[in-house]
Amino acid sequence: MADIAALLPPADETNRPYREALKDGRLCLPRCDACGEFRLRASRYCPSCGGTSSRWEELSGSGRLWGRCVFHQVYFEAFRDRVPYGVVIVELEEGVRVFSNLADGIDTMQVPIGTALAAVYEPVSDEVTLLRFRPA
Ligand SMILES: [Zn+2]
Repeated sequence: MADIAALLPPADETNRPYREALKDGRLCLPRCDACGEFRLRASRYCPSCGGTSSRWEELSGSGRLWGRCVFHQVYFEAFRDRVPYGVVIVELEEGVRVFSNLADGIDTMQVPIGTALAAVYEPVSDEVTLLRFRPA
């Protein structure tokens, strides 16, 4: 497998809490102080309400399969030797949707939309752990 860790952007204040939490087997995302919505990445303004204050909070890691497809093209060099591979959108219990893959070589297209999923934390190097999901 290509070096996924080398492909990631450098760690900074916008992604470090997310990455550190994954290494500890936890999922953390920024949550708006004004409206309480989680968002995928740290950004200055909340996409829901425009609020400017947020904090990192832990999520359950539980959700449901919201969407799925198979990538047949090489969109990411680090995944070249995985093509074709499944990509899923998981709607977490807290309402936010994340892109991921299913773990354990599960055939993505065989898992029905709406299936309950649980987070899996898959280390790919000493520094990088990826978020994946499997049926709960
Ligand atoms: Zn907000």
